[in-house]
Amino acid sequence: MSNPSSRKLNNGLNHTPRKRFGQNFLHDQGIIQRIIDEVSPQPGQHLLEIGPGQGALTSLLAAVGTRLDCVELDRDLAAFLIARHENDAHVTIHQQDILKFPIESLDPAPHSLRVIGNLPYNISTPVLFHLLQHHELIDDMVFMLQLEVVQRMAAGVGDKNYGRLGLMLQYFCEIEHLFNVPSTAFTPQPKVSSAIVRLRPYRKLPIAAKDVSILQNVIRTAFNQRRKTLRNSLKTLVSDEVFATMSINTSQRPENLSLADYVAISDAISSQA
Ligand code: SAM
Repeated sequence: MSNPSSRKLNNGLNHTPRKRFGQNFLHDQGIIQRIIDEVSPQPGQHLLEIGPGQGALTSLLAAVGTRLDCVELDRDLAAFLIARHENDAHVTIHQQDILKFPIESLDPAPHSLRVIGNLPYNISTPVLFHLLQHHELIDDMVFMLQLEVVQRMAAGVGDKNYGRLGLMLQYFCEIEHLFNVPSTAFTPQPKVSSAIVRLRPYRKLPIAAKDVSILQNVIRTAFNQRRKTLRNSLKTLVSDEVFATMSINTSQRPENLSLADYVAISDAISSQA
């Protein structure tokens, strides 16, 4: 039996999908159109596609005729896309690693960039955090991700998937799990289920911490010891006296606290400093 991950694709490109780049190419036209409908790109907008690959989404995005920047790490695929779009002055292909790509170099207006991507699953969390460093430049992001990651991103208090990823993303963005995508929509088929998610960075943070790096540290420390009570897991960061000034029950586990609770703890630490 042929190994599907090394099968060459019949699109004239003759490209062997590279596992190390998380290459699972979309071929299901119904799913591709559904993603484009969710994005609904409009003339005058500034689009950024991450990992365009063989251009399943790129061609439809380029057809809008609005500014489109694409960041693709794979040299062969980048060269293929540069050739395909050589007459499209509004399309720029950057052969680069998105994790090293300076988003600000695109010079977008505040909250203008619309980011789209069927992301390589092995680097999806670092990509999300890289983009969040520029949340004030982004209008929205529509991504294909591993279903399990989308469930963690959208999870609320008490949910078994609730944790660090969801809390930090929900601090910056409104998150919407749009729809699931079966593995049969890709070549080669990934071993995990996938889903489409929209993240819309807040124009004004609904719950703002005095110091977001302290908030990050509190959340990381709490969830590193998920089964401990808050009093125990955070004792290196928060004294009993400081906890006593807050209306938070410290015998709870980390999954029972809301984002507002974590921000209150973080702000109490900031005030002490
Ligand atoms: N968008 C295409 C599609 O839907 O068929 C390809 C999606 S494939 C899951 C992920 C793409 O991201 C691949 O083309 C891969 O080469 C590219 N990629 C992987 N790592 C990357 C990185 N660090 N920076 C930019 N692109 C990357």
